[in-house]
Amino acid sequence: MFKVKPKCTSCGKDIHGGEVVYVEMRYPEYAGMTEIKRYLENEGKIYCQECHSKK
Ligand SMILES: [Zn+2]
Repeated sequence: MFKVKPKCTSCGKDIHGGEVVYVEMRYPEYAGMTEIKRYLENEGKIYCQECHSKK
């Protein structure tokens, strides 16, 4: 799914397959699925469920 090994932005915990995560990102101005995928990899901030529920 991700090229970069995903980690929680807040606590640095590794995200494993099948885990529920929350991604914070700016939606691209105009985009197809390829653009969105690139955005996720470059700009997406991933939070694990635990950190997200703490916010
Ligand atoms: Zn976390």
